[in-house]
Amino acid sequence: MPRSPTHAPRTRIYRPTPRNLARLARLLQAGELVAVPSETVYGLAAHALDASACEKIFAAKARPKTDPLIVHICELAQLTTLAHAGPLAQKLAAAFWPGPLTLVLPKRPAVPAIVTAGRDSVAVRMPQHPLFLALLSACAVPLAAPSANPFGYVSPTRAAHVKAGLGGKIFAILDGGPCAIGLESTILDARNEQQLRILRPGAISAAELSQVAAVRVEDFSQTPNSNEVDESPKIAPGLLSRHYSPRARVVLYEKIPPRLASAAQPDEALLYFQKPPADWPRTDAHRAWLTDNNDQAEAARALFATLRTLDAQGFKTIHAELAPEGPLSTAINDRLRRAAASAQ
Ligand code: AMP
Ligand code: MG
Repeated sequence: MPRSPTHAPRTRIYRPTPRNLARLARLLQAGELVAVPSETVYGLAAHALDASACEKIFAAKARPKTDPLIVHICELAQLTTLAHAGPLAQKLAAAFWPGPLTLVLPKRPAVPAIVTAGRDSVAVRMPQHPLFLALLSACAVPLAAPSANPFGYVSPTRAAHVKAGLGGKIFAILDGGPCAIGLESTILDARNEQQLRILRPGAISAAELSQVAAVRVEDFSQTPNSNEVDESPKIAPGLLSRHYSPRARVVLYEKIPPRLASAAQPDEALLYFQKPPADWPRTDAHRAWLTDNNDQAEAARALFATLRTLDAQGFKTIHAELAPEGPLSTAINDRLRRAAASAQ
């Protein structure tokens, strides 16, 4: 078991063997951090009821303490130990868990203030990834886990992305391969059952939620300054307009104009949504795309990895196309807009 380091930890990627899972569960119980795969993005997990373990998340990510964490569980019974969940929250949990839906609910005293950034609400999710669920059940405690990247950068969708961002800051990464969805969870403010509001769009849409809830679900995430409308402190404090950002400047287009392709400089990349025809437009510029066949799930899976690759290739500007209307376009375009927003 590693001691608190006086020097930078050596970061190890663990294969998902039963022995490694047991070892990583013990690390988590002892208050250490472990990066874990989920179906959304990789998370940086800590024992959610241990305030000093959760402190380490903020230090490793350089995350402001005003930005609360999502708490992950593997059984519905754990929800009521963390939060007050009324009949509608229970119904949504039953319908969408395990899965990419985070519910914001009034918190119970068991949840330390550091997890919720001092708020009286807590964000809870039951992930769908079998390895994350296995770890949760082996350590038998809820795990707080934000995305496993330095604060503000693009979220990781592979173990190697976590190592690139947090290597030397954490001991352990569990390798679960590439994430199946590739975008962070939908966050739903369910504190008031009469007024359900999406704070962050994800793979589960407002329409799907409305159908199960039998009430209209408002998408609050696209409202300018929505974080500040309702109350102080902000309701979804981490959702800065600039977030998920590569180092390169990102410029957005409904469609990348052909004249841009011919004018692009060597340090500029063109990021199409769908693979353009081989001979069009004529360009020497570097071209990348998110999907071969207009498949939104494939595009969502590829988005963060592609932004990282373009950064690693040293492009200064990424001209990126928005997703056309489709099942994941709200979530994909939310991330693209935040990547393109100028620093505040
Ligand atoms: P991350 O896990 O890094 O993708 O970010 C978690 C996000 O969940 C935070 O940045 C907040 O926007 C949101 N969140 C977590 N807890 C709460 C809460 N109690 N109320 C509102 N939003 C929350
Ligand atoms: Mg994050």
